[in-house]
Amino acid sequence: MHQKARNKSLPFYILISFLTIVYSCSSSKKIVDKAIMFNDEREKLTLEYLSDRYGLEQAEPTIIPRMIVLHWTAIPTFEGSFDAFERPKLPVWRPDIKNMSPLNVSSHFLIDQDGTIYRLMPETMMGRHVIGLNHCAIGVENVGGTEDTPLTEEQLKSNIWLVKYLAKKYDIEYVIGHYEYTNFEGHELWLEKDDGYRTKKTDPGEKFMGDVRKATKNLNFKQVPLKQ
Ligand SMILES: [Zn+2]
Repeated sequence: MHQKARNKSLPFYILISFLTIVYSCSSSKKIVDKAIMFNDEREKLTLEYLSDRYGLEQAEPTIIPRMIVLHWTAIPTFEGSFDAFERPKLPVWRPDIKNMSPLNVSSHFLIDQDGTIYRLMPETMMGRHVIGLNHCAIGVENVGGTEDTPLTEEQLKSNIWLVKYLAKKYDIEYVIGHYEYTNFEGHELWLEKDDGYRTKKTDPGEKFMGDVRKATKNLNFKQVPLKQ
């Protein structure tokens, strides 16, 4: 009788320890603030971008987040990736997008290969990371995405955690991979004025997006519109 009771209680303890592990994993993530330069020059260039690209005349370069766009930097190190976003003005090696605006590219978050989440700028300031949608999109960049530095399991977990964190804070309707952005042409959120301004993107990969979507299914984000 006693023997039986002990056996019965065993799965309960296993369950409790399992839940403790799950709970401590999901709550142990934190965000490390490491700001890129957001000085007067960047503010001015961002306001010009909002006006020139989207026809939005604003007093502050702010956004109301409705979308999260996931990326990879295609740069193998954190330092190299951070450096690419740090300065307010585009470097000379980006003539492809420089004609459209001298504002440097940036992203709200940068996730290192070990899964550490860095916040580079306030979540409600506009970053330049996706044509057409910057006025409503929070950008999440991941270090890597080259042949030698594919995105890691730790990065996947951190992206999932961050999407959940942001969805709690804002009315996020869409979570998309950068490679899906042109599907929004013709959508009410699409504001880019120049039909010739497009870049071809593959980041952060379909498999990675599929895994993020599976893990955030219960948040009921809207489906990416079909390409028109
Ligand atoms: Zn990208």
